[in-house]
Amino acid sequence: MLSRLATERFDVLVVGGGVTGAGTALDAASRGLRVALVEARDLASGTSSRSSKLIHGGLRYLEQFDFKLVYEALRERDLLVSKLAPHLVKPVSFLYPLYKKVVERPYVGAGLVLYDSMEGTRRPVPRHRHLSARGALKRAPALSPDRLAGAMLYYDAQVDDARHTLTVARTAAAHSAVIGTRLSAVGLLRSADGERVTGARVRDEETGRVLEVSAETVVICAGVWTDLVHELAGVQAGYTVRMSKGVHIVVPRAAVDADTGMILRTDKSVLFFIPWGEHWIVGTTDTDFTGDRAEPVATEEDIEYILAAANRVLARPLTRGDVIAVYAGLRPLVDAVPGNGTKPNGAKPTTKLSREHVVDVPVPGLASIAGGKFTTYRLVARDVVDAAVADFERPVPGSVTDQVPLLGADGLAAVQPAAGRLAEDYGVPREAVDHLLGRYGTLAAEVLDLIRADPGLGRPLAAGHPYLRAEVVYAVMCEGALHLEDVLVRRTRLLIESADSGVSAAADVAAIMGRLLGWNRRRRAAETRRYLDLVEAEQPVLAIAMSRRTPRAYPPVSSRKE
Ligand SMILES: Cc1cc2nc3c(=O)[nH]c(=O)nc-3n(C[C@H](O)[C@H](O)[C@H](O)COP(=O)(O)OP(=O)(O)OC[C@H]3O[C@@H](n4cnc5c(N)ncnc54)[C@H](O)[C@@H]3O)c2cc1C
Repeated sequence: MLSRLATERFDVLVVGGGVTGAGTALDAASRGLRVALVEARDLASGTSSRSSKLIHGGLRYLEQFDFKLVYEALRERDLLVSKLAPHLVKPVSFLYPLYKKVVERPYVGAGLVLYDSMEGTRRPVPRHRHLSARGALKRAPALSPDRLAGAMLYYDAQVDDARHTLTVARTAAAHSAVIGTRLSAVGLLRSADGERVTGARVRDEETGRVLEVSAETVVICAGVWTDLVHELAGVQAGYTVRMSKGVHIVVPRAAVDADTGMILRTDKSVLFFIPWGEHWIVGTTDTDFTGDRAEPVATEEDIEYILAAANRVLARPLTRGDVIAVYAGLRPLVDAVPGNGTKPNGAKPTTKLSREHVVDVPVPGLASIAGGKFTTYRLVARDVVDAAVADFERPVPGSVTDQVPLLGADGLAAVQPAAGRLAEDYGVPREAVDHLLGRYGTLAAEVLDLIRADPGLGRPLAAGHPYLRAEVVYAVMCEGALHLEDVLVRRTRLLIESADSGVSAAADVAAIMGRLLGWNRRRRAAETRRYLDLVEAEQPVLAIAMSRRTPRAYPPVSSRKE
């Protein structure tokens, strides 16, 4: 891959391996173009692993009259659920509690009628429903009955954002794109007359070696780093990026008795309770940010804000003792667009900034993109590739990604009913097959083959979690994992799902990875130390010790399971 980068000439070089960059690589590669992508750290290590993990229209954007965004996002949601990634993008219900008897139901109801009517014809998720206060408490006994006047129940979808981004990148690779991680773009190459960008100088962060990658056009998909990449390239783009920090907390599923997700109105925006396996993800915040882009960290105030907002509706308040993890991400929002005659956003709060995207071609041979939502990554990618290839001498076909299922999606309908047979054939529990199908789709067979060859790999990676040791092997062999954190933070989500942040699994993961990557004892110890440093940096407000915390005991859950 490195030698291909250094020797081939590409049509499109993508800088950044978040969902936007991965989507752009797939869009360009599936138009028959020669594509390379370089990512400075790991795929999805920026914002694309730190989102609310919703594939949604965004109910609150209706209130901001952002109808186009909601319409497009809902259509993308339906396409992903029904065709492009049914193994990864799953419908999820949200209960919207109502507290003002007369005014609120017609207002929210009208919004949901509009929301549902914007869906496409496929309708892979059900329409909204009205619930009485009793009906709401049946679905969510965790709600305090005080002042509860009823509720609405509506549907959206959710995804493991890091896994989805990785799968988009792998699908691009299946269409011949070269995907390279730990490769930072450190400068742009120019034509002899300096007029046109002709590629990028790229530093291999593993070795320090610098290589030159030639391409007819370079596309910057660097999220909140976009301004920095423009700066190093000495170009002035038509917009700047404003960073807004969003924090989530993770609590055990048993801490909140409900069989559905929930959405609450807050003074500034909304708060979600998102079901996440054996946990809830609760958030988010939306505040201006100016610190270190690589390690946005949650503060005490962020956590207190989320707990206070959640506790306004819960019968049994959540406390700090319930929180097993926190994570923070940065929204790359488009700020002033001076060249385009757009008014600067000035002091507007970040909650009010549009989530639409902007594409710019500041100099020939260089396109860049900012803004957008995870949900609309396919449209963002289509638009930036259209702009990037507009001055190509030969005709380039239009985007076809609405017809390109992601790896693992093709044939899923025929594999899901065979889950029981697969469990018997491979000698693994049925739950393990279901777990693998939900993460790899039809490629689950590749992971099962690893277990057939070495049955020890069928053992769980960490007690109480569904991940199998074979998934670590697969992450290294097929998913580009190079470091311990790639496996514990993004290929699996043990950093945020386990009470000890995945620390007790670290040595085992290092041993499995080390066998494949040729790590000696010192290297394995260094990888483990590096992971512990990351845990300390990302979870400081929880003061997570490097040892297992005693899990809290919860009363039995009375709501029925989804
Ligand atoms: C808290 C929060 C919640 C959100 N929730 C949702 C949601 O529920 N639904 C939704 O649709 N959207 C949501 N979003 C928005 C969504 O997550 C983002 O729009 C999306 O992830 C942005 O992806 P990206 O690829 O543009 O940026 P990133 O994922 O940040 O990718 C940029 C990449 O560029 C790389 N890079 C930077 N500089 C260089 C360089 N010089 N060389 C090589 N690589 C470089 C970085 O390492 C990074 O990996 C949320 C965002 C946040 C912050």
